Amino acid sequence: MKETKIEWCDSTWNPVTGCLNDCPYCYARRMVTRFSGGARFDRENPEEMSGVYLRKLSDSDTGKSYGVGVEFTKPYIDEKGKKEAYPTRFNPTFHRYRLKQPKVWREPKNIFVCSMADLFGAWVPDEWIEEVFKVCEDAPQHNYLFLTKSPARYLKLAKAEKLPQKENMWYGTTITNPDSPYIFSSTEKFNMFLSVEPILEDMGVWGRSVGEKNMKWVIVGAETGNRKDKVIPKKEWIDNLAKECDKYGVPIFMKDSLIPIVGEENMRREFPRGLKL
Ligand code: SF4
Repeated sequence: MKETKIEWCDSTWNPVTGCLNDCPYCYARRMVTRFSGGARFDRENPEEMSGVYLRKLSDSDTGKSYGVGVEFTKPYIDEKGKKEAYPTRFNPTFHRYRLKQPKVWREPKNIFVCSMADLFGAWVPDEWIEEVFKVCEDAPQHNYLFLTKSPARYLKLAKAEKLPQKENMWYGTTITNPDSPYIFSSTEKFNMFLSVEPILEDMGVWGRSVGEKNMKWVIVGAETGNRKDKVIPKKEWIDNLAKECDKYGVPIFMKDSLIPIVGEENMRREFPRGLKL
C-alpha cells in the first residue's frame, strides 16, 4: 500500500533526519519547519536537550567540524506530552528507535530511505550509515532507494567495502544542472540512478553519461513551493532529457510536478526492472 505522496516509491523511512547542505529550494526543510512545532535546537549550544546522546560531527577527510548531531533511542516527547517527529528541526539526527520499521513491514515495498536528510553528507558518521545498511540487509523483502548530493561518499564507502552490493539496494544521486557531481563508479556492480530534481537547467547532451555510466533509471521533477527565484523548467528541457534516456534505453520517471509543463498525455512513469513490485 502506498504511504507517501512521493510518486516513485511506496514508503519513506527516516531513521536519520536533517541536512546541512542548505539548498535554497529544499522541500524537506520546508516540511520539517512546518511540522516541528515548537521544537528548538542549537547545534553549537545543545545543553537544553537532556536525556539524548550528543555526538560531535566532522568530515573524516578534512576534519571540518559540523557541531553536534543527536541520537535518540526513543521518540522525543515534548513538555506537553506530544511526540515530536523533528525535535532537532533540520539538524542531523539519528532516530535509532526507527530502525525496526522495515522488518515490521511484511509486504515488499520500494522504500525511499532518509527522504528528510542527506544520509551521505560529509557530516554523517559512517556508523549511522552502516546501521541503516544493516537494517536493509536484514529486511530483504524490500527495495531500498537512497539519494544524495554527495556521490563521492558512495565511492568512499565502496572502496572501504562498506557499500552493500545488493539487487535490492539502489544508490541515487540528486542533480539539478549539467555541472552537478554525479559519477561515483563506472562499474556495473551497483544499481545506480539519477534524480534530476528540481531540474534547474537544460541538461544538454549530458544524458550521454547516463548510458556510459550505467545509470539504470532517471527521475525528473520541477521545483515546487513558491520561493522568489523559483525555476519553471521549459518543456524542451524535459524532452531533451527523455531523448537522451531513450538513446541509452534508460527508463525515465516524470514527477507530477511536470504535468503542467509537458501535459498528462506526454508523461512517462517508467520503472527499471527490479523496482517493479
Ligand atoms: S541535499 Fe536535499 S535535504 Fe539537503 S538541503 Fe539539499 S534538497 Fe534539502
